[in-house]
Amino acid sequence: MNKPGERLALHGGLPTREAALPYGRQCLDDDDIAAVVNVLRSDWLTCGPKVAEFERGFADFVGADEAVSVSSGTAALHAAMYGMSIGPGDEVIVPAMTFAASANAVVFQGATPVFADVDPDTLLLGPTQVLGKITPRTKAIMAVDYAGQPCEYDALRAVADRYGLALIADSCHSLGGSYKGRPVGSLADVSVFSFHPVKHITTGEGGMVTTNDAALANRMRCFRNHGITADFRQREQQGSWFYEIVDLGYNYRLTDFQCVLGMSQLRKLPGWVRRRQQIARQYDAAFSACPVINPLGGRQEVSHAYHLYVVRLDLSRLNATRAEVFAALRAEGVGVNVHYIPVHLHPFYRNRFGTGPGLCEVAESAYEQIVTLPVFPGMTNADVADVVSGLCKVVRAWAAEERRACQQGCSRCN
Ligand SMILES: *Cc1c(COP(=O)(O)O)cnc(C)c1O
Repeated sequence: MNKPGERLALHGGLPTREAALPYGRQCLDDDDIAAVVNVLRSDWLTCGPKVAEFERGFADFVGADEAVSVSSGTAALHAAMYGMSIGPGDEVIVPAMTFAASANAVVFQGATPVFADVDPDTLLLGPTQVLGKITPRTKAIMAVDYAGQPCEYDALRAVADRYGLALIADSCHSLGGSYKGRPVGSLADVSVFSFHPVKHITTGEGGMVTTNDAALANRMRCFRNHGITADFRQREQQGSWFYEIVDLGYNYRLTDFQCVLGMSQLRKLPGWVRRRQQIARQYDAAFSACPVINPLGGRQEVSHAYHLYVVRLDLSRLNATRAEVFAALRAEGVGVNVHYIPVHLHPFYRNRFGTGPGLCEVAESAYEQIVTLPVFPGMTNADVADVVSGLCKVVRAWAAEERRACQQGCSRCN
């Protein structure tokens, strides 16, 4: 039941908004920029004092003893794999519903990612999915806090302890969240973060690993610096030319001007997470009566950090494919996305590890239905309303039966 003037922008109608809204975007203020400029004018562009300051501030924020900064979230995953001594012959259980870097880091170390399915309601890796994948070669579980919702860490910890496995958290989506009152970053043996601009705080590119294990942190500090025992500043202080390469490492360092940006951003993080949660509540309310638009499930004992707001579309109630809905929303100026193509379906994994369709059916069927809606702290309430209007307009236009899709009391369609 199209309202007047409701022709989809995809079909030549007026778009819901003129300026396209991205699905995620950084927040950068003048004080962030001033902080970076100050460091650019200082003596230390890299390997200077801002690195340790950011690491200390970050560790305190997440309630961990140690934080090791690196050049990206992917480098952080790699450092975590190295630090946990994951190597050839080892298997690491990784959920199929994640960004490929989670699994790639396992492969960097010559180990095998074993893809586990996810819970149909939350799309998170849980103890049931893990138990089905444990073999004598399993060395670690990589939990991914998909969309920003922390996994069930108590249950995963119980499984890890029972089988003597390490528990690694890919928390790139959940910085600022918590589980049973404990902050993300303190929930696993080692936790990994990304500071890419779409994530909660940014340093351009950047990442962090947190842990309570000081020896592990030292191994990762060495790893991010070519495998060298002492960094440049330590040597300078010691007045010494001497260093040793004790293992093969990489240059995964984060610069001082990035670290100072990270510190400046970290101060604003709690307010930003609250805003993300507020936007999520507005979406929840808007879609609660719509049988077509189904937000992912949330669990009571967590504070969800909402890196992503993901909805599943009941395509059986629409005369359209997900691809058509996606194109229609983009045409309306709503910058939707899809997170993620299940990792085991990528050609690299099919060719190298023989994975493919049928391996993780929950993730595969979810992938056909999911759409990520815009969420970032700079969004206004009017932006949120535009996303809701755009999505409802598209659903109305393709409702399988007149009024049927939306008739369950949602005023937007009646
Ligand atoms: C962003 C992200 C990464 C990688 O982070 P980069 O900083 O882009 O390298 C890894 N895992 C997940 C789940 C992510 O979302």
